[in-house]
Amino acid sequence: MNDLNSPDASLIKEVQQLRSELAAIKKTNKKRTSALYKSEERFSLAMRGAMDGLWDWNIETNDIYYSPRWKSMLGYEENELDNTLDTWKNLIHPEDREPVLQAAHDYLSGKAQSFEIEMRMQHKNGHDVFVLSRAFLQKRQPGNKPVRLVGTHVDITERKRTADILEMIAVGHPAADIYNAIALMYEQRHSGLRCSMLELHGNKLLHGGAPSLPEEYCNAVHDLEYGPNVGSCGTSTYTGERVLVENIETDPKWEKIKHIALPHGMRCCWSEPIKNSSGKVLGSFAMYFNHTALPNQEQSNDLTTAARLAGIVMERDQSQKRIRALAFTDELTGLANRTRFYQVLNELIKISDNTKQRFSLLYIDMDGFKSINDSLGHDAGDLLLKSIAKRLQATSREIDFVARLSGDEFCIIVDENHGETTASKVAQSCLKAISQPLEITTRRLLPSCSIGIAHYPADGKDIPSLTKAADTSLYTAKERGKNQYAVYKSELAEAAKYRFQIEQSLREAIESQQINLVYQPQINIETGEFMGVEVLSRWHHPQLGNIPPSDFIPIAEKIGMIKPLTEWVLNTACHQAIAWKRQGLPALCMSVNISPKHFLDKGLTPLIQRILDKTDMVASELTLEVTESVVQTDDSNLSVFKELKNLGIQLAIDDFGTGYSSFASLKHLTVDCLKIDRYFINDMMDDSKSLLLVGSMIEMAHKLGYRIIAEGVETIEQLDTLKGLNCEAAQGYLFSKPVSPDDFSKLFHDASDN
Ligand code: C2E
Ligand code: CA
Ligand code: CA
Repeated sequence: MNDLNSPDASLIKEVQQLRSELAAIKKTNKKRTSALYKSEERFSLAMRGAMDGLWDWNIETNDIYYSPRWKSMLGYEENELDNTLDTWKNLIHPEDREPVLQAAHDYLSGKAQSFEIEMRMQHKNGHDVFVLSRAFLQKRQPGNKPVRLVGTHVDITERKRTADILEMIAVGHPAADIYNAIALMYEQRHSGLRCSMLELHGNKLLHGGAPSLPEEYCNAVHDLEYGPNVGSCGTSTYTGERVLVENIETDPKWEKIKHIALPHGMRCCWSEPIKNSSGKVLGSFAMYFNHTALPNQEQSNDLTTAARLAGIVMERDQSQKRIRALAFTDELTGLANRTRFYQVLNELIKISDNTKQRFSLLYIDMDGFKSINDSLGHDAGDLLLKSIAKRLQATSREIDFVARLSGDEFCIIVDENHGETTASKVAQSCLKAISQPLEITTRRLLPSCSIGIAHYPADGKDIPSLTKAADTSLYTAKERGKNQYAVYKSELAEAAKYRFQIEQSLREAIESQQINLVYQPQINIETGEFMGVEVLSRWHHPQLGNIPPSDFIPIAEKIGMIKPLTEWVLNTACHQAIAWKRQGLPALCMSVNISPKHFLDKGLTPLIQRILDKTDMVASELTLEVTESVVQTDDSNLSVFKELKNLGIQLAIDDFGTGYSSFASLKHLTVDCLKIDRYFINDMMDDSKSLLLVGSMIEMAHKLGYRIIAEGVETIEQLDTLKGLNCEAAQGYLFSKPVSPDDFSKLFHDASDN
């Protein structure tokens, strides 16, 4: 950049001197003396020698003088402009004219002490030139009559534009915009100039900015590999040195790529490497002209300063990109992180809102990740997450966006503008890809995940409602048995609302004992006698009414309330058993349901021990019912069965036949009883296969030494059939619904009386 300050400094000095001379003249109150002429002469000479334009208006004669520099600053030759005041007025930018004339008037009339104003003037080529205009008024005594106005024009366009560019950097404009501003600024300084900035990424040059070069050329240069003979920029970025090509057509450096430049008229190209503050090459700044040439001094200086300015932008942009990349990337998987996810979602909603684009959100959550993490350790968990991330990325299309939101939760934003039901298809591929077997630390895993889908804008128009919809469908997919996807429907939201209400009031319900217990007898089929009783929880909610256990037990499990609930049930049920005994009822085995999660908890055995001690319950008169899901899991579960058995209590497998337990796994377990699920009993009268299955279950259980109870017996026919199949016990509405303790003892007495 030219040092714009130095001519100013010398000028000001000169003017100061002139002023003091003028003051001296005024003081002596002489008419125009030779001294004044002399100083005027010197003043004019000084002005003409400086880089500034000079004008000199003799107010008395209305003669005006514009120096050659004054004219050339605006692109005119000496003889191209009339020496009239209108020339000046007309060349001022229309928007600036009024204030400038006002300021001049104020100065002339003595209202203002000085005249110094920035304004835009119109260059012959049509562009604006920013001018700093100053004027000095000579007055003649007596009467202080203005006689002459002498002024200077300083071209501050570059300073102005540099300031604009620095401001753009400071305000954080996109680098591409700033590159364009830099190019335009230098292009205005040299007629016919076209500038370009390329960024070096690895060994490739990428388009940065070139507002005046044809798009076709920019595209052709974009992604070009740098090297010792790759045009001016490819070479300068490679060598780190300035490369001046006077003639593109003949220079060997352009041999390979001149065919892309020549058709667009470019004939010479000078390239300066853009470097960061530590000297590393970041890219290149190039100047093109449509004629063969080497730079003159001014152009050469500009090449240096332009590259330096572009360097500030590029360095800043690259470090910002690095910081942004770090802030927006999930460290473990390399996927976009949660912050980035919300940002992308926000942007998408904004554009989609304008363009009516559609997209969907896939919330993906690993099934049983916690148990893998707990049993194999966090390192293995991390490896698993990394593989899942890879699989998700490989499965989704390039236009889709994949992020890891937290722990084992991922998300894909699926572009829905290309074809039908895309989200479901992507979900299916994800389920398939994730469920492929995986080896981690020599263990073979069969991962699976559940997926919730929500569509924009149908299921939510803003981030909170859209993510909530996706979350609701994910929950549904989990609830429906995992390893599947669910698509959002408004009914799901109703269900979610209900669940939420339950969640909110469950804690209080347990603490304030809104929950009570009912008891259902288990009958010896042979004798018709009561042999046991199952305790079941009931919750009457003040607003929601009766909430079935199938609704609140899973939620209690989810929010960690199942342990206090079970403890309370166990306590109350054991006290009830003792109370009935005191009332004279015979010892009935008390069955308590234990949720699978709690069953596998280390704290269960000590809890049972505590309750047995506290309530004086006979261990063998307590049965814990647990569903099949705990049977199939690994060795550590087997030890739970053993520990509990060591306490002397009974164990029953609940809902037998509905889960996935293999018969083989049953032989390792120390259980006492299998409860055939109600589903089979309900079906067996109409469906021969169910009948066959019930028969086999009974036979098998007996062979393995287990007792068997048929659940959900509602009719005499069912009972007779079970009897015929050798089933020894039954439970169901045929005998009684679950009832209150008092009703239960009445029931017992009624039954014994018959
Ligand atoms: P479950 O352990 O299989 O309990 C038997 C369910 O079948 C009970 O439903 C009972 O009322 C119902 N039932 C009994 N006989 C018949 C019949 O003849 N016909 C029909 N249609 N149903 C019959 P309930 O009380 O709604 O409990 C549902 C499930 O909730 C239970 O299934 C159990 O898994 C769970 N649950 C209930 N109370 C508790 C509890 O205190 N703790 C735990 N962990 N789970 C509980
Ligand atoms: Ca049960
Ligand atoms: Ca059951």
